[in-house]
Amino acid sequence: MDAMFRKEISHVSIVFNQIKDGVYITDPDRRILFWNKAAEEITGYSQEEVLGKKCADNLLVHTDLAGNKLCSTDLCPLHKAISYEKATTEPLIVKALHKNGSRVMVEVSLAALHSASGELIGGIEIFRDVSEKIELEEQKARFFSSLSHELKTPLSNMQGYLKLLLDGDAGEINDLQEEFLTTIYKEEQKLARYIEELLDMGQFEGTDYSYQQNMLDLTALLESLANSFSAEALNKELDFNSNIEPDLALFGDRERLSQAFSNIIGNAIKYTEQGSVSLKAVFSEADDEIGITVQDSGIGIPEKDRKSIFEMFYRVDDKDVRSKGGTGVGLYITERVISRHGGRIELESIPGEGTTFTVYLPGLKKTQEQ
Ligand code: ADP
Repeated sequence: MDAMFRKEISHVSIVFNQIKDGVYITDPDRRILFWNKAAEEITGYSQEEVLGKKCADNLLVHTDLAGNKLCSTDLCPLHKAISYEKATTEPLIVKALHKNGSRVMVEVSLAALHSASGELIGGIEIFRDVSEKIELEEQKARFFSSLSHELKTPLSNMQGYLKLLLDGDAGEINDLQEEFLTTIYKEEQKLARYIEELLDMGQFEGTDYSYQQNMLDLTALLESLANSFSAEALNKELDFNSNIEPDLALFGDRERLSQAFSNIIGNAIKYTEQGSVSLKAVFSEADDEIGITVQDSGIGIPEKDRKSIFEMFYRVDDKDVRSKGGTGVGLYITERVISRHGGRIELESIPGEGTTFTVYLPGLKKTQEQ
């Protein structure tokens, strides 16, 4: 190991020992060269105990929140930062092992370290205990889920009784009564949909700490969405094709990603009256990212509206759009979820011919040893 590098570490250690975040520095083989005071507090291991060891040698042992180990080389965040020689762009929340065997939720940032001449000399991880913040988010999620139940139950009861009245189960109704009841019924359905979307937003607007970060099987997730949406497309007599590459995986929040893709696929079906909707997912080795494309032959989106459709409540001002119903919240949520996963959405559209949404997400193709 470069003596200069060790000297530099000893200089910066005074600074790193003052800060409240855990910091450790490794050589390119992930052997620990420095471990600050906060790292000692968060993990229970002293610097003497860890120096020279690899971070995966039963120390730290990061897992995703579902408990899957991330120490195999392709998944290890530190290995990734060192081997791709770049820093993390999004905060990553993982569990780390405490000396007493418990697991601490930590938010980590990582980067490769280079010498002044540009040579790769190691990696650095900065981590902070976020257990309390996550507990707060979980409390908030529990609140939203009980609020959602409290609001939905009376609404669905009202819907049931209105339906009975309309069906004449409580006695015959005249034409005017039927007209009024039908209006109430439709408005009530609208209200139920708005409440649903507002509650979704309340949940999706959560801070970074409310995001689950687990290694998930994207192929399985997309296949299950393709399955349920193909039935919906069939109802509208649209062709639905899917072509999803096997073994696609990424680190993320299953429920939120599922909601994000459902919004895009659901829109493709909703805004298409004839022709087809297709779903495709491929891995690009060159960019380490997965491209998920949803293409439709529907009404299209005018050029002037393309940026705005990702804003909250924005809907294209067009009779074909108005006739469909909707709140303009779906793509707002989708965009937030995708960017929170370090991804982006691209959009191409020809009014009257169709629209193609492509979502790019950092991901990987699982190999045998994982
Ligand atoms: P909603 O569908 O509830 O109105 P979204 O946020 O999902 O809200 O979409 C915003 C707007 O973007 C829609 O109102 C519609 O004008 C337009 N849009 C989204 N997807 C498509 C699509 N596949 N084809 C045509 N227009 C679309």
